[in-house]
Amino acid sequence: MAVKAGPEEFFDKLEVMPAETRQKYLNRKLAQTVARAYRQAPAVKKIFDKAGVSPTQVKTVKDLERLPVTRKTDLIELQKKKPPYGGFLTIPPEDVERVFMSPGPIYEIQHSGIKWFAKSFWAAGFRKGDVVVNTFTYHMSPAGVLFHEALRDCGATVVVMGTGNTEIQIQTMRDLKVTGFVGTPTFLMTVIKRAEEMGHKFRQDFAVKRAWFTGEMLPASLRKTFEEEYGIDTRQAYAVTEPGGAIAYECRQKSGMHLMDEYVVEIVDPETGKQLGPGEIGEIVVTPIHNKAWGLIRFGTGDMSAYTTEVCPCGRTANRLTGIVGRAGDAIKVRGMFVVARQAEQAILSFDQVARFQIVVGRREHRDEMTLRLELKPEAGEPDKLAEDLNRKFHDVCRIKIDRFDFVDEGTLPAECKKIVDERTWR
Ligand SMILES: [Zn+2]
Repeated sequence: MAVKAGPEEFFDKLEVMPAETRQKYLNRKLAQTVARAYRQAPAVKKIFDKAGVSPTQVKTVKDLERLPVTRKTDLIELQKKKPPYGGFLTIPPEDVERVFMSPGPIYEIQHSGIKWFAKSFWAAGFRKGDVVVNTFTYHMSPAGVLFHEALRDCGATVVVMGTGNTEIQIQTMRDLKVTGFVGTPTFLMTVIKRAEEMGHKFRQDFAVKRAWFTGEMLPASLRKTFEEEYGIDTRQAYAVTEPGGAIAYECRQKSGMHLMDEYVVEIVDPETGKQLGPGEIGEIVVTPIHNKAWGLIRFGTGDMSAYTTEVCPCGRTANRLTGIVGRAGDAIKVRGMFVVARQAEQAILSFDQVARFQIVVGRREHRDEMTLRLELKPEAGEPDKLAEDLNRKFHDVCRIKIDRFDFVDEGTLPAECKKIVDERTWR
């Protein structure tokens, strides 16, 4: 779908702050957040004291590097030891408005009046007059309630749908002339396919014109199908429940997700916690700076991404995440760059000639060396030409080159072989 020309409407003036103003704003909010969390949240005080860092030493985003990253497993452990909130609450317990639960279990608290999801729905075009099905669950998890309120903040009518019976969803969407869908890409495709099986022509019989996705990434091919075959404009957002919700969202450019100003988001080396620069792949680490009730500092999401500082034509000035490329556990560091299994797979399997592959990382003369073992399909053509094309693509996607290609006979690699093998020894 073509990008509409003309000025964009913004939900919030923070979205268009000049870069320098944003840096100052984030630093100021961060210093306030750290001071409050240290004072009110015993778990945070412990983390700082153990690291030998005083809250007054955290004045800028860069200063966060002095602190360890707290992960989901740490939260589960701390909440078990000190139930129910693990020492992260920064308000009196009787002031807690609502509690959500995520697997672990982890208890998260949140207050209403939080507008940051609304920016994401606004950027996706939801307005008064829209009738939207929210197909995320309203049970325990924050998704149902938070997305509901955010859609209301944009003026839309929300159908309190939740998960469940596809046929009832289809009937409701038809009866209420629903214009917007909120859910996962997979579920929207399930709905469309089921509607077609029931004899409907989705494009003609339904009024759905925009969809907002989170919870899973949207493959480019599926996006194309939604937009070109079904006329549904799609946007995605990146959200994590533990630090409190929306982290980044797409604008009409659909080229990366703008970071929210309600968080300090760092991309770090998951092994050292050091911040990485634009274009470098690392773990997304999040510190909420607008949640006065929750003292979570440097939450490690386990998701791997990179960011760009390039100017976005939409007018929003926040940096953009360039996509979630995989999980930290599936990444391996080669010559200082993280190679994520899923991302490598995407690059390699975009070549039809490839039947199976395996990346082997070794050391030669004190340098990491990456070998790609390839099993080709019959009549795959000239291997040297393929190696050249594939390496170019691999570099575009993973920002690092393969050193050697090893074309192996059919049947050498087992179907379920490990995609990246680390054979380095450090002696
Ligand atoms: Zn933009």
